[in-house]
Amino acid sequence: MRRCLLSTEPDMRIATVLKGCDVKAIYEMAKRNQVNLDNIIIIGLNCGGTIRPETARIIVREKLGLDPDDVVKEEIDKGKFIVVTKDGEHASVSIDELEEGGRKTSSEKKASAAGRTAAAARSRSRARQTSPAATGALLGEKAGNATFVEVCSEKGANLLDGALKAGAVATEPANPKGIEIRGKVENAMLKLGDRWRERYFGALGEGTERLNKIREQTSRCIKCYSCIENCPICYCIDCSTKKDYLVEPGVIPPPFMFHLIRFAHISDSCVNCGQCEELCPPVEISNSVFLHAIQTDLERLFGFHPGEDMTPPPVLALVEETAREDVLRRREVTRSSTSSDDPG
Ligand code: SF4
Ligand code: SF4
Repeated sequence: MRRCLLSTEPDMRIATVLKGCDVKAIYEMAKRNQVNLDNIIIIGLNCGGTIRPETARIIVREKLGLDPDDVVKEEIDKGKFIVVTKDGEHASVSIDELEEGGRKTSSEKKASAAGRTAAAARSRSRARQTSPAATGALLGEKAGNATFVEVCSEKGANLLDGALKAGAVATEPANPKGIEIRGKVENAMLKLGDRWRERYFGALGEGTERLNKIREQTSRCIKCYSCIENCPICYCIDCSTKKDYLVEPGVIPPPFMFHLIRFAHISDSCVNCGQCEELCPPVEISNSVFLHAIQTDLERLFGFHPGEDMTPPPVLALVEETAREDVLRRREVTRSSTSSDDPG
């Protein structure tokens, strides 16, 4: 979406439905002038997490005893993974039960049949934190036939007003019991997110231990750039990881500097979307765990919550790019002159 809006249609106006982490990514992109928020209408989608399609098929077969090809609908709601078959059969399994037994925090392997993606399990992103209007499943007799809509800002109120006036939607007050249950479900999901953060970050360790673990895993990197190309926060056209004086070209695995550059550029604003990990399939490096762990440390230190609104600017944006590059170039010049003086 960023590439489309920026490079081909900078003035295009769009309305889009986004999960909590995607909304955060849009705000971080807007701070970097990659999208114009005035041209985007965001409708947040309450999201209990995502499950990889191949994982979902394993769960359906092994945990629910159904043929995955018979499933016509699936969702995560009220802490459960729920499917409906073409014959109208409903089946569900609790997310807690799925993940408790199977997830591997060592990140040596992906979470096989364990449930949601690792990033989704650690998530505390909720659409209502950031979106003008957030939607979600409705409880009770209207379930499946209507949608819960939460207006979260003036922009959201105007959006709903406009839709009502145009006759595009009809509304009625939400059932108080439904609101209460939604609150409880949300709290339970937030607690689950905290629990997985503790486990993932705990397994990563601190200081030198963490550094060594990251070095060990990234030594499998094949420099395919998938993590960079698919990160919503990575936006530089002139990417530093492609500069010869920073990362020696033609070396696989790339020098650790390749990963350090990424950490330094975006760890303050990582929105834990998990793309850099999900799309690192050949070697399964836990990129999002590393970035998310650093981001939460920076959040604790500086109080900067990425993607929640347009202020303040990202912590690391307070260093001028041109000033930083001048320093690096001077260092490179010094290094070359030192090595040419070296008789050995
Ligand atoms: S996606 Fe994985 S293998 Fe590819 S560059 Fe990133 S870390 Fe390396
Ligand atoms: S670093 Fe990874 S998890 Fe964080 S925003 Fe980028 S792609 Fe998403």
